[in-house]
Amino acid sequence: MDVTICNPLLRTPLSLIIDDSCPVINKAYYWIQQRHDWRLRHRPDSSPGGWEIHYDKLESMPNTIPADFAAKWGEWCGEQGIKGKFSMIPYPAGVGRIDRGFPGFPQRELDGWLRVAKEIIWPNFDLTPEMLTHTHIVDLKTWQLTEEWEQGEWVDPPVELLTDYIATAMELLRNVGIPCEGVTSPGGFGSRKEAAYARSTLDAALRVNDNPRPFFFLRLTHDKLPDVPIWHAEKDKGIAIASIVSCAGDWFGATGYDTADPDLFITEDLRGGRLPAVLEEELPCVLVGHWPCFYVNGEIGFKVLRDVKRRLDAYDPDGTKTLWMKNSEIGHYWMARELSDIEVEKKNAVTEEYVRIDTKFPTANFTLSADTAAKRIRVNGSDLRQVQSRGDFRSETFLVEGKQTFVAFELAVGETTLTVSR
Ligand SMILES: [Zn+2]
Repeated sequence: MDVTICNPLLRTPLSLIIDDSCPVINKAYYWIQQRHDWRLRHRPDSSPGGWEIHYDKLESMPNTIPADFAAKWGEWCGEQGIKGKFSMIPYPAGVGRIDRGFPGFPQRELDGWLRVAKEIIWPNFDLTPEMLTHTHIVDLKTWQLTEEWEQGEWVDPPVELLTDYIATAMELLRNVGIPCEGVTSPGGFGSRKEAAYARSTLDAALRVNDNPRPFFFLRLTHDKLPDVPIWHAEKDKGIAIASIVSCAGDWFGATGYDTADPDLFITEDLRGGRLPAVLEEELPCVLVGHWPCFYVNGEIGFKVLRDVKRRLDAYDPDGTKTLWMKNSEIGHYWMARELSDIEVEKKNAVTEEYVRIDTKFPTANFTLSADTAAKRIRVNGSDLRQVQSRGDFRSETFLVEGKQTFVAFELAVGETTLTVSR
């Protein structure tokens, strides 16, 4: 009998990453302002780059995004079953610290934001820092903003400062009761030293939150197929960090004034766009949108999201092909997939075989396929319920299709024995 690890519940992971979200302020507004001022100080002869091209729209751009809107958005995602990751930049643009308040803005807005983030968004989305400010680097000794940029100079960060910097971002979130599950790179932060960046994030997660299996989001690929690289695994200790890779560009509208087009994700006929090509390969399909666009310019990004979700539902009408997951859940699944030992023991091979799984990497919905038609499956002695269709297939059940048996269960740390009876 051959045993292989499948996608969770035989479904392709879907996940929605929201970047640049933070309490109270519209980060895009301050990013554009600060980048403009910085350019005039340092490179007055250069032309505007990145979001600074929208400098002329600052007058009509809101500088805040209300907690009430975040509640409306988060509730809609919850009703829709959407899961993913939502940034909570802890010192956004250096305007205010999430654990100290935003000078010039009412305290009730920050309180409202923290309530919404924790009670409405967190159940379905990992909350992560996107470093400290997502604009200027902070001098941790003085808490002054420097002239370096998190996504500028720190694309190639000074390694000796990196762990403390990431740990500080995590501490600010922990101070408001959010032990984050991982981090997000502002722009290409850390990209030229990815191994060191992954190491520092893992060390910071262990130091601040005692989290041995965090993730980071840095990479985005439009043309190649995505994967889930695991860095710095220590198999016997249950320690590793996952790199969550997005497969699509932000076609939700970014600032609210950039490309916003659901067809680039998935066309109305469900055949065109980037997502069907990735889903077809059954690889994690991770979308990215920047938070400002969901609110500004008539909630343009929110409209795109509604279209994309409606089309994804039409692509998978009975929910047997796709599974919405948080970034951390994808990371944990791929760690279990790559770092668990699986052995088939052929005792009374005619009627019964045993599968032993030894792991330090627990995960939900761990799904195996065995090339035999089983009559009975036990996990550590307990019978699993047999289901008749993929629609009913869930954790703690098994499904027989022809000469193949699929088994799903919660994989715990230690040794698990699967008894397959024919
Ligand atoms: Zn960002």
